[in-house]
Amino acid sequence: MQIRADLHVHTTYSKDSLITPMELVYYAKRRGLNAVAVTDHNYLKGAYKIAKETDFLVIPGMEVSSAEGHIVALNVPELIPRGLSAVETVERIHKAGGVAIACHPYVYFKGCLREAVCSSFDAIEVINSRAFPFGHSVRLAQQTAVRLNLSRVAGTDAHYGPQIGYGYTTIEADEPKVESIAKAIIDGQCTPHGRAVPVVLNAQQQLLRLRRMVKKFSSKNS
Ligand SMILES: [Zn+2]
Ligand SMILES: [Zn+2]
Repeated sequence: MQIRADLHVHTTYSKDSLITPMELVYYAKRRGLNAVAVTDHNYLKGAYKIAKETDFLVIPGMEVSSAEGHIVALNVPELIPRGLSAVETVERIHKAGGVAIACHPYVYFKGCLREAVCSSFDAIEVINSRAFPFGHSVRLAQQTAVRLNLSRVAGTDAHYGPQIGYGYTTIEADEPKVESIAKAIIDGQCTPHGRAVPVVLNAQQQLLRLRRMVKKFSSKNS
């Protein structure tokens, strides 16, 4: 069956995201997805908690800050430590039985892997809908995927509910289960789709985040 999943979403278990578990499922459904990966920064427990508490198909994962850039690990049962080299991080993900994805490898202002992307990765995030500059980073990632013969996936890197689903991957999985989805991605039975998140949604996200920070600050000081 075909799975339609945004493979890169941050929830409030990441300090910089506004997406509550309820919003995650609400927007994923609204965008016509039938699965979503939870990939919080260096944190895994939240993803499993959310997966347990909803009927919606949640792919548990995390975004690991390796020493050379960010790496998305899907379907890992244990926390992958931050700060290791890219190759060591991928090894740890594989030992844990997970899928290692080189996410946003060519963007500015984020922990991007660039030359550290190698053939030991299972997949490359060709489309990251919040990548800057978008077209340029997609082109470079496409070229690398071809050169290294890696599976190609897409995700939004959403930090605000309405951004979910701008980047998504269609996956030909045997069953609507996390294990089958992981296997299909490794086998290359997947196609990336999507476009850049509209500027207005990114601006709304920043504004809401700022408002929240001010609120927190003023309640601390009152
Ligand atoms: Zn990242
Ligand atoms: Zn991310």
